[in-house]
Amino acid sequence: MNCLFCRIIKGEIPSDKVYEDDRVLAFRDIDPQAPTHILIIPKQHYDSILEADPETVAYMAEISKKIAAAEGLCEKGFRLVINTGEEGGQSVKHLHMHMLGGRSLQWPPG
Ligand code: 5GP
Ligand code: ZN
Repeated sequence: MNCLFCRIIKGEIPSDKVYEDDRVLAFRDIDPQAPTHILIIPKQHYDSILEADPETVAYMAEISKKIAAAEGLCEKGFRLVINTGEEGGQSVKHLHMHMLGGRSLQWPPG
C-alpha cells in the first residue's frame, strides 16, 4: 500500500494532527488555502466517497463539528469539501474532507 494518507495514519510521514480517534484522523493541510485548512480522513482506506460506507461519511461530518468548535470556526462559519475523481479535483485517492475557514470564502469555487 503506497497511499500517502495511509502512510500519514501509520506515522511514516509526519503530520500536524488536530484530532485522532480509532476511526478518523484530522491534520493540517500542507498547502493551506485558508487560515484554517484541515483534512479529515477515515483510518480505513477508501479511494473516494463512492466506496465509503454511509456510517463513515456521517462520522467524518460529525467529527468536523467538534473540530470546527475547537478551531473557533462556529461563529463565523467554515466550508466542508469532498473532492471526488478527476473533474472533482481529487489528487489524493484516499477519502478526505477539507475543512476551510478563517476568511471569507468565494462561491462558486471555480
Ligand atoms: P485533494 O486535491 O485530493 O482534494 O486534496 C489533497 C490535499 O492534500 C491537498 O490540499 C494537499 O495540499 C494535501 N496534501 C498533499 N500531500 C500532503 C502531505 O504530505 N501532508 C499534508 N498535511 N497534506 C498534504
Ligand atoms: Zn489510504
